[in-house]
Amino acid sequence: MPPSAPRVWLTTLGCAKNQVDSDKISGRLDAAGYRVAQSPEDADVVMVNTCAFIEAARRESIDAVLEAAGTKRPDARLVVLGCMAQRYQADLAEALPEADAVIGLERYQELVGELDRLTGWEPRRPAPPSGMDILYDVRRPAPETPYAYVKVAEGCDKTCSFCAIPQFRGAQRSRPPLNIRREVADLAGAGVGEVVLVAQDLAAYGRDIGAPGGIVELLRVLSDVDGLRRLRLLYLYPREVTPALIEEMALNPLVAPYFDLSLQHASGPLLRAMRRPGDAVRHLALIEAIRSAEPDAATRSSFIVGFPGETDADVDLLEQFLAEARLDWAGFFPFSAEEGTAAAGLPGRVDEGLTGERLRRLQAVQEEITAESSAARVGRRVTVLVDQVEDGVPVARSYREAPEIDGVIVLDRGEPGDWLSARLTGSYGADTTAEVVG
Ligand code: SF4
Repeated sequence: MPPSAPRVWLTTLGCAKNQVDSDKISGRLDAAGYRVAQSPEDADVVMVNTCAFIEAARRESIDAVLEAAGTKRPDARLVVLGCMAQRYQADLAEALPEADAVIGLERYQELVGELDRLTGWEPRRPAPPSGMDILYDVRRPAPETPYAYVKVAEGCDKTCSFCAIPQFRGAQRSRPPLNIRREVADLAGAGVGEVVLVAQDLAAYGRDIGAPGGIVELLRVLSDVDGLRRLRLLYLYPREVTPALIEEMALNPLVAPYFDLSLQHASGPLLRAMRRPGDAVRHLALIEAIRSAEPDAATRSSFIVGFPGETDADVDLLEQFLAEARLDWAGFFPFSAEEGTAAAGLPGRVDEGLTGERLRRLQAVQEEITAESSAARVGRRVTVLVDQVEDGVPVARSYREAPEIDGVIVLDRGEPGDWLSARLTGSYGADTTAEVVG
């Protein structure tokens, strides 16, 4: 039995939403008296927060669990958390005898008690921690970056045929605006200048709590938080991007005019098979509406390639759409047949090799557009936030670049957390260089 508070190590896989969960788990364990280990080898408990989004993510998660099992001390405990734990609870426990516990999202309330049991630690807490709700628990450690993700809702009410997320994350549950504001104010007070709002279906925020279109009101509620300089939205389902939301994002000076539209494809029939709205014409009309409201709006999207039934003509259409839409950024993902989804049973599976070819072709088209879009901005003056200094080089972002997924701006000077005015001096691929001015 460890003589003092056990040390925990937490590895996180997957998306920003999972990272937020990990931050909150760390906050709760800290409140319960657990200490942070300096490395997995130094930990009494090694935890892996897994991702179950698609096959590749699951493989990566399993590899991370096996690696943790190999590097931890023999007497240390191994705990598997996250979406895989939720989705495959019993099977995973059986398939991974290395794990001492498999705790899915719905059982996070029991996490502290479970760790106390596994470590044999009998802390004298003033009062036992009152469980943990991943959504509402606002205590989280100050992040190391000057930006942070904040999850405003959990779950999703949509029925996209390829997606298993609603099966294990459940229906949408939006947090009350003032609960979110408290978390944002805590982060801003700890030096976070940019908050990135995330949810499975962000623009639908509020509908389940009787406030359809509530995302606009939420942006206003957050707009006067002391110390907050920029709000960014990720994952906007196209039909939820209303004129009111476009207007708010274009006119509210705190909100980045950055539209992350999850379009998924340009072919109408394929989108119907995905149980999603739109087609190339409607997507272009939405982008046009955004650019009419804010000509400098940054646009991003993600697309599924190789969905069952996708033809060469569909891919040509998507390529043509990319050329017309001229999105600043786009990601392409191969279709993954997820167990329990409607799309997994659809006929017309596209061969893996062909999917890869199509994906590379579309990526190449978009890379050129992204590079041209970055080059066209050279000479402009922008406000940037310095995220980090890498090998002596300050790396920053303007409203146009979201953290971790888009290009970056390489500066001539600056320190992490600085907000600076800079002139863009050159571009290489997706990235730009800039000099601090004024
Ligand atoms: S909106 Fe997103 S999370 Fe919801 S079902 Fe569709 S793809 Fe899945």
